[in-house]
Amino acid sequence: MDNAIQSILKEFPLVILDGAFSTELERRGCDINDELWSAKILMEQPEMIGKVHADYFTAGADVAITASYQATIEGFMRRGMKKEEALSLIRLSVEIAKKERDEFWAHPENRTNRPKPVVAASVGPYGAFLADGSEYRGHYKIGECELCDFHAPRLKALIEAQPDILACETLPCLAEAKAIVAVLQAYKDMSAWISFSAKDEEHISSGEKILDCAAWLDQQNQVAAIGINCTAPQYVKSLIEIIRSQTNKPILVYPNSGEQYDATTKDWHGASAETSFADYTKQWYKAGARAIGGCCRTTPDDIRAIAKWARNK
Ligand SMILES: [Zn+2]
Repeated sequence: MDNAIQSILKEFPLVILDGAFSTELERRGCDINDELWSAKILMEQPEMIGKVHADYFTAGADVAITASYQATIEGFMRRGMKKEEALSLIRLSVEIAKKERDEFWAHPENRTNRPKPVVAASVGPYGAFLADGSEYRGHYKIGECELCDFHAPRLKALIEAQPDILACETLPCLAEAKAIVAVLQAYKDMSAWISFSAKDEEHISSGEKILDCAAWLDQQNQVAAIGINCTAPQYVKSLIEIIRSQTNKPILVYPNSGEQYDATTKDWHGASAETSFADYTKQWYKAGARAIGGCCRTTPDDIRAIAKWARNK
C-alpha cells in the first residue's frame, strides 16, 4: 500500500517532520497552561494554529502534525461542549493544517527541492487525555478493548477530515498501539505511523521492549512507519538500531530537545544536552531513521537545521 511517508521517500532520502507545537503557541502569546493543552487554542484561537503550521512549512517541514494531540471528545465535553461540537473541533484541526499546506504550496517559490507537504492527524495517547502524566508510564487501568472504545470516535472524526496519514504518537505501551491498529482496520485506505515514548535505550515507557513492539508492528499492513517521539535524544540512536533489526518499514524519530520534563509540576528544567539537536539528527539518519523532526521544546530553527543538511538549504 502506498502511503504519504513512502511517497516522499521515493523521491527524497529523508522526510522532515515538524517540531513542537505548544512552545510556538506560547511564544506567540497563547496561554496553554491548561489540561487541554493546544486543543484549547483550537477552540479559542484557531488562526494561531495555522500560523504555527506555516512557520514549520517555511522552516522546511514536509509534514504538519495537527493540533489534535489532546483534542478528545471526552475532554471537550468536560468543558461543557456537545459531542457534535467536539467532533467538529477535532475535524477542524485537520482542516486548518490542510488549508495552510495548500496556501503554502500555491506559491511556486515554495516548491524547490522539496515534496508537497503532507498532513498527519495527531492521535495522542489515552494518558494525554487523563492529563496526569500517565502517558509516560503506560500503566493504564483500562485494557485494550476500552482503549479501542476511547480511540474509535476520534479516529473516525479525524479520518472524515481526510488527512494524508495518522500520527499515533507518544504511545506508552504496545496495548495502545494494538488498539489503534484494530480500530484502523475499518478504514483500509488510511495508514498510520506508530510512535512510542521511551524510558531508556531499549524500553518504551511501559517497560516493554521496543524490539517486541517493532516486531509486532512490522506485520501490520496499515502501519506506514515505526518510531520514537517525546523521548530524551540520548536514547534514540540505540532505539533506531533495535527497530531496524525488526523491520524494513521507515523508522521515524522526533525526540525532545534534551531538557527534562517533570510530569508532576508540568514543567521543564535543565539545560539542553551538550550535543546540538542538529548533530543528533545527523546521527539518527546514519543509524537508519528516515523521518526526523522534533517533539517538546524543539523550534522551527531545529527543523531549519535539518533541512539545511538534508536538502542543502
Ligand atoms: Zn513531546
